[in-house]
Amino acid sequence: MNIKPNARSHFKFIVFLLLTVITTTNIGSILLLIKSNDSNSTYAPQVTNFSLIQNICHAIIEISLAIITIVVTHENKNLLKIIKKSNLQIQNLIKQHEKELDEKNKSLENIIDLYHKTLKLSNQKAELFYNISHELKTPLSVILGAIQLIDQKYPLDGVDRRKSSKHLSTIRQNCYRLLRLINNILDISRVESGYIKTNPVNCNIVYLVEEITESVIPFVEQKGLSIEFDTLDEEIITAVDIDKIERIILNLLSNAIKFTNPGGMIYVKVARKDNDVVIKIIDTGIGIPRDMQSRIFDRYSQVNSELTAEFEGSGIGLSIVKSFVELHNGTIEVKSEVNRGSEFIITLPITLCDKNYNTDHCQNNVQNRIIETIKVEFSDIYSTPT
Ligand code: ADP
Repeated sequence: MNIKPNARSHFKFIVFLLLTVITTTNIGSILLLIKSNDSNSTYAPQVTNFSLIQNICHAIIEISLAIITIVVTHENKNLLKIIKKSNLQIQNLIKQHEKELDEKNKSLENIIDLYHKTLKLSNQKAELFYNISHELKTPLSVILGAIQLIDQKYPLDGVDRRKSSKHLSTIRQNCYRLLRLINNILDISRVESGYIKTNPVNCNIVYLVEEITESVIPFVEQKGLSIEFDTLDEEIITAVDIDKIERIILNLLSNAIKFTNPGGMIYVKVARKDNDVVIKIIDTGIGIPRDMQSRIFDRYSQVNSELTAEFEGSGIGLSIVKSFVELHNGTIEVKSEVNRGSEFIITLPITLCDKNYNTDHCQNNVQNRIIETIKVEFSDIYSTPT
């Protein structure tokens, strides 16, 4: 039943009034009975006493009820006050929260707007980078072609030959450096936009890695280093993108050569482990500080120390290596200790696809095919042996 507070208090007042009237009547009856008990009543004294006790009990009950009604009414008033106060506080809190929610919604809308603008600008920047890199590649190829022509068509004698070949090799070397940078920027853009393509073929990865290792021997020897290839498996056939595997191994080898002092060793190991092939490139070089080891695969990340100050680089090589490894669903990790050396471990799952690599073609052409890639990948170490 929904009774209004005003009606409720009227009702309580009436109940209180009735109780007071009944109590007063009862008290009156008690007084009358006492009086009649004193004078010589016509009733038997037991009857008069019983009525007296009954009336006293009624009076006590009624007085108690009256007191309870007064107390309950008072408590109800207090409760009502507390409820009103709480209601007011809750309403204020709701208003405050609504206001905060509105403000947060507005900030969220601003952030979403900013995110879309940043994304658009970032895409435009990546597109610009990609286009510029592409445009730079054409004149560079023309310069490299012209140098090759000068070398072949205009042979000079004696001192002139020595002088011009030195200048030409400087031009060629710097062209390769630019080409490396441009290729890396193009790859990064492709990886970022998700437009990078893989061309997997089934091939013997042990042979592929061994061939790449052999191709860099002239560079290793030129720096006074030694290199060793080691495997327990003659053949591990798996589907890989050969160009990307070449880029991965050459990049790790060029870093190993770059950061190892003359007299040092480089080891290349290939092994099957369960359903994976594990490739390790180990060097006895300057090593990588522990705090940098997790960051070297990040883009543009380079170790800044006295040991690395003399070396050139853009800090994108390893991030591309990581992306290429991940394109093969593989992983790459590094273990390193300063002044002791570094170990890069690549783990690739062994899989097969429906395309086989022509092994004859592979055996005859791996050396020739990767020579250009090596010249580009190793361009920031020292001059290319001709
Ligand atoms: P960069 O093109 O500058 O060499 P990378 O991404 O290939 O860039 O390498 C990032 C950094 O990681 C390097 O600048 C170097 O400080 C460190 N690094 C990579 N490989 C080695 C290594 N084998 N030994 C020591 N430091 C290394």
